[in-house]
Amino acid sequence: MVRINEERLKENILALGEIGKVPEGGVTRKAFTQEDIVGREYTASLMEEAGCRVKVDAAGNLIGYLPGKDRTLPSIMIGSHIDTVPQGGLFDGAIGVLGGIECLKVFKEEKYKPDHPIEVVAFSAEEGSALGGTFGSRAMAGQIDPADLTSPQKRIMDANLKVFGLSFEKIKEAKRDPETIKSFLEMHIEQGSILEELKVPIGIVFGIVGIFRYEVTVKGEANHSGSTPMAKRDDALIKASRMVLAVEEFVNEESSSMVGTVGSMQVTPNAINVIPGEVKMTVEFRDINAWDPILVYERLRQFGSELGGVTFKKIVEKEPVRLHPGIQEKISQACDDTEICYHKMASAAGHDAVAMSYLAPTSMIFVPSRRGISHAPEEWTEWEDVFAGTNVLMRTVLAIDKNNE
Ligand SMILES: [Zn+2]
Repeated sequence: MVRINEERLKENILALGEIGKVPEGGVTRKAFTQEDIVGREYTASLMEEAGCRVKVDAAGNLIGYLPGKDRTLPSIMIGSHIDTVPQGGLFDGAIGVLGGIECLKVFKEEKYKPDHPIEVVAFSAEEGSALGGTFGSRAMAGQIDPADLTSPQKRIMDANLKVFGLSFEKIKEAKRDPETIKSFLEMHIEQGSILEELKVPIGIVFGIVGIFRYEVTVKGEANHSGSTPMAKRDDALIKASRMVLAVEEFVNEESSSMVGTVGSMQVTPNAINVIPGEVKMTVEFRDINAWDPILVYERLRQFGSELGGVTFKKIVEKEPVRLHPGIQEKISQACDDTEICYHKMASAAGHDAVAMSYLAPTSMIFVPSRRGISHAPEEWTEWEDVFAGTNVLMRTVLAIDKNNE
C-alpha cells in the first residue's frame, strides 16, 4: 500500500515552523507580514516540486494546481492556511497545506496521474484580518462584498493585499464557480481534547458549530456607595452577575453540546466608592444545533426584561454548518482501509471548510491536540498522528478521484 514519506513531511513542517519562529516560543507568521510572505514563498516552492503550477488569486490565496488526465473535470481541492496567530504553534493550518502537498509528491513519485485536477490551497489570512477570520476562503466562496464594508476596512484590506501585488477593488474576482470544484478536504488539528481523551488518532468532522455573539448592556443607577441603603439601590453589576449565572444555568438546562461564555465586561464608572451604573458585557454561544442557542438567547432576553434595564445587540449570528456525508463516508473508508480508528465529531472552532462547504461537498480530518491546546507555543500533535492523518487524506483524495458520480 502506498504511503506518504513521513520524514519528508516532518522536515517540511519543521522548516515552515522556522519561518517566524520567535525566541519567546512559538511561531508568529501573521497574514500580510514579511514572515507570511517568506512562508508563502517556501510553500510555493514545495508546490512546484510536487509538479504544480502555482498561482495567487485575487484574495491572495496561494494555489498549487496539478492538472488531471481530464481537464474538463472539476478539481479536488485540499487546503488550509499557513498564517498564524502571534506565538502560534507548528501544526495549526500548516499540516493541511503541507499534508496536501505531500500527497501530490507521492503521486508524482508513483507516477500516478489523477483523473481530476487537484488543487492545494493555502488560504490567505485565516487567523484574522480587518474583516475577521477565514478571509481567503470567504472571498473564494463569494461571501465578501466591498459594498457591505466601511471605507477604513476597505483601505486596510487594500493596503494588506498590496503586499501580494493585489488590489482589494478586484476582490470579487476571487469567487470560484462551484462547477469547477468537485470536493474540498481540510486536515487540521482538533484544538480540543476529545480525540486525545478517546485515544483515537482521527476525527471525521460532520459539522462545525454555529457562533452566536451579543453585546449586552445592563443599566442601573450610579450612586454613593456609603449613603445609599441596600434596599434603595439599582446596582448594574449585581444584575449583570445574575445574567452571567443565568447564561451558565440556561445553557446547561437546554443542551449538553452547547457552550456559553461571558468573556468580557466593562463596569462604569468602575470606582471603589460608586455603585455601578452600567455594565457592558459580551455573551457568546456555540453549538452544532441551530435552535438551542436561539432558545437560550430568548430565555436570557426574558430574564433580562424581568431584571429591567437590560438591552441586547447582535454582534454575530453564524449558523452551524453540516459537512457532506458522502465525503465523510470516503474518509471513514480510508481509515478502515489503513486500519486507523476514527471518531465522528463536530468542530468547535471555525475553519476555511465553513466557507468552502457553500461551494463544494466538504469535510474535515482532525488529528489530536495535546491537552487540547492551540493558539499557543505549547500546541502539539504527535508526529504519528500527523502521518496517520496525511495517509488518510491521501487515500480519501484517491477515492474521490476514482469516483465519477
Ligand atoms: Zn487553523
